[in-house]
Amino acid sequence: MAALRHLVAGNWKMNGSRAMAAQLIAELSAGSAGLACDLLVCPPFPYVPIVADLVKGKAIALGAQDCATKESGAHTGDVAAGMLKDCGCSHVLVGHSERRADHGETSAEVAAKATAAQAAGLCAVVCVGETEAQRDAGDTLKIVESQIANSIPTASNAANLVVAYEPVWAIGTGRTPTIGDVEVVHRHIRKLLAAGVQGGTQVRILYGGSVKPANAAELMAVAEVNGALVGGASLKAADFLAIATACR
Ligand code: PEP
Repeated sequence: MAALRHLVAGNWKMNGSRAMAAQLIAELSAGSAGLACDLLVCPPFPYVPIVADLVKGKAIALGAQDCATKESGAHTGDVAAGMLKDCGCSHVLVGHSERRADHGETSAEVAAKATAAQAAGLCAVVCVGETEAQRDAGDTLKIVESQIANSIPTASNAANLVVAYEPVWAIGTGRTPTIGDVEVVHRHIRKLLAAGVQGGTQVRILYGGSVKPANAAELMAVAEVNGALVGGASLKAADFLAIATACR
């Protein structure tokens, strides 16, 4: 089977400004010719329409960092998946560990968000990953398996689903699992997707958690790693492009 084209996704989190977005997208665009992977940027909500204009005609896809479970109505502060689609998004992150932790999002809620995203025509990037305590207890595969089983909509396929494996303890810490550990988890996720999702062998599985230019080549070469979800290093064009360049 042909190798899946890698996806390198930038999660800007709650960072940025209009000026920063304009400069970053210009630099990414200038440096993205000939890349062997797809690029995705996920700015904060207010910058989504602005970045939509900036990436028009460029090989950079646009995503958001969260969406509501509902289509519309009396849900103050929430943003519907259909609105994101209307504003130019093709992707949306759901179930990022910062949302699971800061907002108490359960896997059932993540599944409802992913379902809403897919119904609106977006590709849901469903994030899973264990905490350090869960890892130390030897529960990594069990936790990831439970998150996959409960966070991924049954109507998923390779076009409307990406899975991001992000060990919580590796996010923003500069620490990463061993290459062997990444491979074990990604192979396990692939097995689960192949068994449980239509076209599951073609669903891209991203690794996320302190991906940097210095470790990207090694991480991106691991079996069943089909790209990266990048936080901090996605805010500097040179770093984000170096990670993308590491994808072969
Ligand atoms: C993330 O926000 O999903 C992430 C992986 O962050 P960082 O790359 O900074 O660890």
